[in-house]
Amino acid sequence: APQNFDVVVVGSGGGGLAAAIQASDAGAHVVIIEKMPTIGGNTIKASVGMNAAETRFQKLKGIEDSKELFYEETLKGGKFKNNPELLREFVNLAPEAIEWLATNGIELNDITITGGMSIDRTHRPADRSAVGGFLISGLVKNINQRNIEVLLETSVAEILMENGAVSGVRVVDEYNDTRILHAKSVIVATGGFSANREMVVKYRPELDGFVTTNHKGATGSGIAMLENIGAGTVDLGEIQIHPTVEQTTSYLISEAIRGGGAILVSQAGQRFYNEMETRDKVSAEIIALPEKSAWIIFDDQVRSNNKAADEYIAKGFVISAPTPHELAVKLNMDQETLQTTLGRYNQFVAEQKDEDFGRATALRHPLNQGPYYAIRIAPGVHHTMGGVTINTDTAVLDAQKQVIKGAWAAGEVVGGIHGANRIGGNAVADIIIFGILAGRNAAAYAKR
Ligand code: ADP
Repeated sequence: APQNFDVVVVGSGGGGLAAAIQASDAGAHVVIIEKMPTIGGNTIKASVGMNAAETRFQKLKGIEDSKELFYEETLKGGKFKNNPELLREFVNLAPEAIEWLATNGIELNDITITGGMSIDRTHRPADRSAVGGFLISGLVKNINQRNIEVLLETSVAEILMENGAVSGVRVVDEYNDTRILHAKSVIVATGGFSANREMVVKYRPELDGFVTTNHKGATGSGIAMLENIGAGTVDLGEIQIHPTVEQTTSYLISEAIRGGGAILVSQAGQRFYNEMETRDKVSAEIIALPEKSAWIIFDDQVRSNNKAADEYIAKGFVISAPTPHELAVKLNMDQETLQTTLGRYNQFVAEQKDEDFGRATALRHPLNQGPYYAIRIAPGVHHTMGGVTINTDTAVLDAQKQVIKGAWAAGEVVGGIHGANRIGGNAVADIIIFGILAGRNAAAYAKR
């Protein structure tokens, strides 16, 4: 027999979990459907943090920021291709989303910076650990407290329509059994399609052969499912490659390492670009090097300020040495050149002015405390900026920009917010901000 809910949430990443919690708090009977055996989606791999401007935590640290500046820098980073209404909503709701998390016991009160931003506005856990695991475990706690049902190893295969409105979903479970779940609202939070090689190459043939940082559930199924009920799409060709991916493990080296003071060095031992530029630009410079890869180099002070660095060391792919000379030997790099590069960079830190590449942020401290560390990195497919079209209520829009009643979408499955290049720290912001909004609106619609 079919089961009845007010709201079905498809996907258990940050977007889906935030939506489910908010919908439940608004009085809706909610179920979460997740095709993988575990909760957390690709969100669990998120590294750097959550951007927001004019937050309580920024004020506590004396950081002056403005929503307007956040808007402008995100728009510039997105090459002015961002949907202005969605971006405005995103920037306006960001501080509330930070508070919503804090209220639910998920406090992001330490703050760092990412490429393309001029101000510290990337909120992360107090212990400076990667944001993804912290966020998902906190959200799951809230899911459990509310007794929200989660069906694992169950995929939504189809969104059902009746009389021009969503009426539920058809799911297929781990035993290949099909069931119908009725609901007036379906929130699609299925994430992006970075792990769908065929779909990536269809839109961007030159990305054939690139590794991806994403979990294998990032297949873009939600886009196809929503297109089947008439949803419009935007920017599907805008696919982000992240500049610093360890190639043997596809492990993402967090932007927080550069934000904490690390530099990028070529095999020739030289810096080659402003490390704090946006992801698209830094990636392009790495691909242009003769080796198509580079080294991210940092010292022990950077390591001690980033919990993720210890995780990388534990993974076994970090090369370390007590002095720059010994590091250069291990990297098969000219010793004098690396020494000169570090000396020159440290001089720029002292002057707070990068004369070579104009790095204006995260000139934190000289790299002069051994041991020294290096990780070989190259770009990998990381984020799909394109996706389905929504309005500022997170209602899914058809190709004529009309609302599809009962269909809601939030997170990476949605296109338009990030334009042609997503800023680091804006994905977590996106999924939480629009996840909350989708949960609220989907519940109100289903219960009206
Ligand atoms: P976001 O960051 O936008 O919240 P994530 O990538 O973190 O997205 O999470 C999306 C989740 O949706 C993943 O756990 C993925 O396995 C799940 N998912 C994708 N397609 C389906 C589907 N058709 N049915 C159920 N779950 C799905």
